[in-house]
Formats: sequence, structure tokens, C-alpha cells
Amino acid sequence: AKERGKNSFQYFDKTMKSEAEFAKTIKRDLSLALEKNQFFLLYQPLVDVKTGKVVGMEALLRWQHPKKGVISPFHFIPIAEETRQIISIGEWVLRTACRQRKEWLNMGYFDFSISVNVSVHQLQWPDFAKVVCDILNEIELESRYLELEITETVLLESVDAVVKNLCHLKEAGVKIIIDDFGIENSSFRYMQKFKADGIKIDRSFVRDINLDVNKAIIDAIILLGHRMKIGVTAEGVETREQLDCLIECGCDEVQGYYFSKPLFPDEAIQMIQKGL
Ligand code: C2E
Ligand code: CA
Ligand code: CA
Ligand code: CA
Repeated sequence: AKERGKNSFQYFDKTMKSEAEFAKTIKRDLSLALEKNQFFLLYQPLVDVKTGKVVGMEALLRWQHPKKGVISPFHFIPIAEETRQIISIGEWVLRTACRQRKEWLNMGYFDFSISVNVSVHQLQWPDFAKVVCDILNEIELESRYLELEITETVLLESVDAVVKNLCHLKEAGVKIIIDDFGIENSSFRYMQKFKADGIKIDRSFVRDINLDVNKAIIDAIILLGHRMKIGVTAEGVETREQLDCLIECGCDEVQGYYFSKPLFPDEAIQMIQKGL
């Protein structure tokens, strides 16, 4: 949503009209995308800093639009949230990612988990945790293979349903990771309300890690995570310098173009076979 905000600002003058039209097209076509089977998932590896092994694969949603080509979630997730279609789209993502993980298990790949991004609107839905558990049962996938990445804006004070869902999922053995940590001012409040299994540092801090202030923020987030005895992941690692800096800070897991862009399932498994 943030990237989108930036873009809207950039194009405010010249192309506002066409952007509004783009949004209208998206809104109209989105309602058919599921039944027309236009969504697919790419998988981006998460790498353990100490062992260099792939310890996770994050599922990232893509929409193959018949006319506009592949559309990034930044452009349609906010609309899907507005129209509540995120509930059915999110369920499709969960089921597809869990099926993929099961298939990889059947092929003999045991050592990594699958991460799925979850929106606030999904977590506010009282049945969410139950649906996740139903999907795991249906696919016969053990809950320990599943990690949910929650964007922290989720924890608006109002929503008991969110905390209930999170606790239910944790009890069921699903891991909860706070995504985009540090970019919302609710970050610390989140830590008070719910004991997550991990936090993920947003790539905006990693991008400019050479700035003292960002390095200090990353240091502080890692310290916080380790004081809470939870793992800290950094996303958006693009260079060796960024990686070295994160290693120096004691980061546990890393992800980004330096290791791999998001991949099709067969490419992802090739990467595991090659050992990166
Ligand atoms: P996110 O969870 O913070 O995901 C990271 C984004 O950064 C992804 O963009 C990924 O492709 C991109 N990225 C990864 N490594 C690098 C790097 O080294 N450099 C740069 N510049 N970018 C990198 P993507 O796939 O377009 O996803 C955007 C956002 O959309 C995600 O941000 C996530 O919040 C949301 N999203 C993606 N899939 C889903 C989904 O299935 N459900 C929901 N609710 N949200 C999703
Ligand atoms: Ca993990
Ligand atoms: Ca994520
Ligand atoms: Ca992020």
C-alpha cells in the first residue's frame, strides 16, 4: 500500500485520470479473476544466515490480467480489501501455498516452511483461524510447516477478533511473523498484545542500511527480537554489503534479490536442489 501511495503522488499531475481508470478496470476485472483462474503464486526463498540453507519459501501473489499483463499485489490487494474479495482470494492463496508445500514434502523436501501473507481484513473475520486449520487438515499438512506473515497495521485496538484468531492459530502450531516491522508506529504496541514467533524488518531499512540511522534501527529491532527470544528476518537484501551488515547486526534470516527473486515452483525447487 505504501508503494502505491508513493506512485500515486508521483503521477498526481499528469496521469491522475488514467490511474483512476486503471483502478476502475482493476476493480471490475478482479471480481472474475478467481473463477477465471488468473492468480498464481511465486516463491521467494528465506535463507538462514548461519547455515546458508533455505529455511522458508514466501508465497507472493500475482495476477495474470488478460490485457494488462502480470499485476503486482500492490495494485490490487488494497482494492480486494475494500471489496472484501480478499477473503476468498486469501483463502485461495492459503490453499494453493499449502498444496504446494505438501507436494514438495511428497517429493522429499522436509526442511523448510511456507510463508503466506495475511491481510488485516482476513484476520478480522472470526472464522479465519478455523479456515486455516480446515485447509491444513484437508491437505494433511502439519501446521509446523506454515508461517503467516501479518502486516502490523492489523493490530488496531478495536479488534479482539484479530487477537483471538492469532492465539487460536498459535495454539494450533502455526507460526506468526510480524511483517514490515518498524514502518508503522504500532510496532511496539503489537509486541505488547501478542507474542509473535518472529519479526521481519521491512526492506526500506535494508535498502539504506549504510545510513547510520537505519543501521541503528535495525540494531534495535534485532535486539528487541532477541530479548523476546524470537527470530529476526530482513527482507530486500540486494547486495553483499547489506548482507554483511545484517550479519554483523546478528540477523537470523535474510531474503532478497541477492539470493533470489520470487520464483515459479519448479525454479524454487531447483534452487533448493542446487543449495543456492
Ligand atoms: P511484502 O510481504 O513486504 O513482500 C516483499 C516484496 O518485496 C515483494 O513484492 C517482493 O517481490 C519484493 N522483493 C523481494 N526481494 C526484494 C529485493 O531484494 N529488492 C526489492 N526491491 N524488492 C524485493 P510483491 O511480491 O510485489 O508483494 C508486495 C506486497 O504485497 C507484499 O509485501 C505483501 O504485503 C503483499 N502480498 C503479496 N502476496 C500477498 C498475498 O497472497 N496476500 C496478501 N494479503 N498480501 C500479499
Ligand atoms: Ca522459520
Ligand atoms: Ca511478507
Ligand atoms: Ca515489506
